[in-house]
Amino acid sequence: MGQPSDRGLFFPEKIPQLAPTFLRGIHHYAKEQIALEVIRPYVGDAIPANELIQIVTETVAFPFPLVPVTQSISTLELFHGPTLAFKDVGARFMSRCLAYFTRNNNNKITVLVATSGDTGGAVAAGFHGVEGIDVMIVYPSGKVSPVQEAQLTTWGGNVRVVEVDGDFDDCQRMVKDAFATKEVSKKMTLTSANSINVARWLPQQFYYFYAWQQWSNKTKPPVISVPSGNFGNLCAGLLARASGLPVKKFIAACNANDTVPRFLQTGSLQPAATVATLSNAMDVSAPSNLTRILQLFRERGESLNDVVTSYSITDDETSRAIKEVCESTRYLMDPHGAVGYCALERYRQTVSANEGYFLETAHPVKFGSAVEKITGKAVDMPPLMKELSSKGETVKMAAASQDLIGYLLGT
Ligand SMILES: *Cc1c(COP(=O)(O)O)cnc(C)c1O
Repeated sequence: MGQPSDRGLFFPEKIPQLAPTFLRGIHHYAKEQIALEVIRPYVGDAIPANELIQIVTETVAFPFPLVPVTQSISTLELFHGPTLAFKDVGARFMSRCLAYFTRNNNNKITVLVATSGDTGGAVAAGFHGVEGIDVMIVYPSGKVSPVQEAQLTTWGGNVRVVEVDGDFDDCQRMVKDAFATKEVSKKMTLTSANSINVARWLPQQFYYFYAWQQWSNKTKPPVISVPSGNFGNLCAGLLARASGLPVKKFIAACNANDTVPRFLQTGSLQPAATVATLSNAMDVSAPSNLTRILQLFRERGESLNDVVTSYSITDDETSRAIKEVCESTRYLMDPHGAVGYCALERYRQTVSANEGYFLETAHPVKFGSAVEKITGKAVDMPPLMKELSSKGETVKMAAASQDLIGYLLGT
């Protein structure tokens, strides 16, 4: 269940505490074991141990390297999954949990999701070929990058794709209307796969522990900069910290959509209109997971400002950083990672002698033409992706909820 019936957000009753021996001895653990330690308290006995091991093993079946960029700054690369963005982790975990829970169920489940680009691809990849589950992805025509479009449309099988003549907000409205339509819910079991689902949120803690495992100076915990949009990723990091992960400071790195930086400065929450930026997966002005972050701090009696600093980074700063870092170190950042890099640099200028890392949330090839314009060089396609370069089949429709509902009902 993505959202409780009162339309609030699910939140853990109790934050588990990881054993100090686990954190001290983390270099002895395989990444599957770390994932299991972190997630088991949340799963309880809802999924038997042998099944859960299988689920987490498949979830983290790719590398999560911490790569040095400059002398003081590293990056945690989260783009080695099948759709080249960190959302693969949450989507893979969620799809496998759902497959487990529906295994002995005769009713098919339909996962219906609107996407602005990265979510749809990760969800399709996560659910493709999973028995008992149909996937329907709704995306705005002409508003996703060519690589994203290929990742959305080339699955076939149990993945159907609807291309809407409208924008992301239209897609979201159509999906919401379909969920609210009784005839639809009578005919099929619908579920969403958006990022407020706990099965996507909780497993995102894993890779913060993988970074800690690779962090060399254990006496000086890192400053961690998280490129943020809906704040699920940062919220997972804060949860990991509440369970015992050593962290010096979190930086919430935002683009021009600066609701949270302003909130941390003034204490008043005033979302402005969303503006389009180079880091489009972060173009969010009313982040859903902020509620969870505030709840976490309320429960712990901690001040958010003591733990999190937030900056808003312009497109100019982002482009300049991509170019400069590429020229001086040969490391190529994508626009989202670059926002994280800039925010970490800004923090280091105010508070000196701090080492840290930023999350590289997507591979630069996903935003290839933007990055190419900045550096003047073509971005190499990773070998895995080479065959995924053309668009597949879609069902086209106008931005009318009735059309999507009709399609779902087969009328
Ligand atoms: C979704 C996304 C983000 C934002 O993550 P949140 O958890 O929504 O804050 C950042 N970068 C990329 C590439 C994304 O796809």
